[in-house]
Amino acid sequence: MSTTIQCISPIDGSVYVERTTLSLEAAREALARAKNAQPDWAALPLSERVQRVRDGIARLGDMNDDIVEKLAWQMGRPVRYGGEFGGVDERAGMMADLAEEGLASIEIENSAAFHRYIRREPHGAVLVVAPWNYPYMTAVNTVVPALIAGNAVFLKHASQTPLVGEHMAEAFHAAGVPREIFQNVFLSHETTSALIAEKAFGFVNFTGSVNGGQAIERAAAGTFTGVGLELGGKDPGYVMDDADLDAAVETLIDGAMFNAGQCCCGIERIYVAENLFDAFVEKSVAIVSAYRLGNPLDRDTTLGPMAHVRFADHVREQTAEAVASGARALIAPELFPEQGGAYLMPQILIDVDHSMRVMREESFGPVVGIMKVKDDAEAVALMNDSEFGLTASLWTKDIDRATRVADQIETGTVFMNRCDYLDPALCWTGCKNTGRGGGLSIIGYHNLTRPKSYYLKKPVN
Ligand code: NAP
Repeated sequence: MSTTIQCISPIDGSVYVERTTLSLEAAREALARAKNAQPDWAALPLSERVQRVRDGIARLGDMNDDIVEKLAWQMGRPVRYGGEFGGVDERAGMMADLAEEGLASIEIENSAAFHRYIRREPHGAVLVVAPWNYPYMTAVNTVVPALIAGNAVFLKHASQTPLVGEHMAEAFHAAGVPREIFQNVFLSHETTSALIAEKAFGFVNFTGSVNGGQAIERAAAGTFTGVGLELGGKDPGYVMDDADLDAAVETLIDGAMFNAGQCCCGIERIYVAENLFDAFVEKSVAIVSAYRLGNPLDRDTTLGPMAHVRFADHVREQTAEAVASGARALIAPELFPEQGGAYLMPQILIDVDHSMRVMREESFGPVVGIMKVKDDAEAVALMNDSEFGLTASLWTKDIDRATRVADQIETGTVFMNRCDYLDPALCWTGCKNTGRGGGLSIIGYHNLTRPKSYYLKKPVN
């Protein structure tokens, strides 16, 4: 059965885009076309697939001016930031550069008697389920290496950002990626689950909420379909007593507030050594107080609305609950007269502790709690007191100390003196409820292919 999905614009609550989902039958037919075309795609020389994908990304870049404004309408990011093409290009370029290495066969022996090696085989059809918060970058993370590896790709993008997959399809198709090989599809949750449950895909990569990830895993149960799950986070920052204070404040607060706090690896809680705590808080308040909340189409706006009013209400609830339990909110509401609905003022909380949801559950909004810590041991214990593990950001001048602390943190990535970033040469991964699997890097290629072993005994002359 087909249904209609709607993108309600956070700018003014209007219906910005409507699309009809594919029925299960139509999705099956589309998938059959993809599987039919996939062997020819996989048989192209790797260099040819890489070139077409690179060309597709370049064409996406050419569309950027149009994309930026449409993104603002769909999910609220201010146009002044210019879209995601910088990150898209960096990630796609890195994956194109790593293709030979990531997809290389492993040679064990090639002697007079034997040829033994392990080849990387594409899964066939890969489903990519992507979120709206960085809708191009999160999709590109899997779409690009999956195509380069020789798979056909079904992209099911978020209902909040329905134009993103259409733009990607237009760019890739114009660059010579066959229409059957990259298909942007509008699917209901039910159809997505039904397809996964009937083993339609060789691999599914899901980026989104914990609930969504659990639904995908349930759908895949018993099918032996490979599943990559990149889910929520509660990423901590830890400012050690020797940190460069200005750099730490500017970067961590930007990491907490950019994109209205809707970054998968955004900073959600900050622990600061006692000697720097007061200065850190004072500078944080000064930075946040200078933000301009408003219409994302206005070039003066630095903080747009959240993508949906329900996300803003979730953060309002968490914040109000924390304040009712003794937290102090340091940002004055009078500074943000535009707030209401999806427009949420940024907030900094102190006098917080881990009994409060705002310090434990994902906020995914422009609020951050800051706590004083006495030493590394306390900071490590607090950083690990979370059901998530995506990234952690350490601020110090001492790389050995950072490494010692890093070794103790339950997380997917540790940054020293950086945060809210994704290095595509490294594996993008998480632990605990952040999911499992690994994207980007050569490990991304390993997950988007399966190993196939060849044991060839040569004839004796
Ligand atoms: P979400 O509701 O889980 O949606 C994400 C995507 O999954 C959308 O395309 C959504 O489709 C789809 N989806 C959700 N449930 C589904 C189901 N049962 N069956 C099929 N598809 C389903 O997530 P969100 O709240 O919009 O996005 C924010 C979350 O994503 C945050 O938790 C954030 O931390 C996480 N995230 C993680 C990473 C990472 O790398 N770890 C990166 C970005 C975001 P519809 O839109 O049609 O519902």
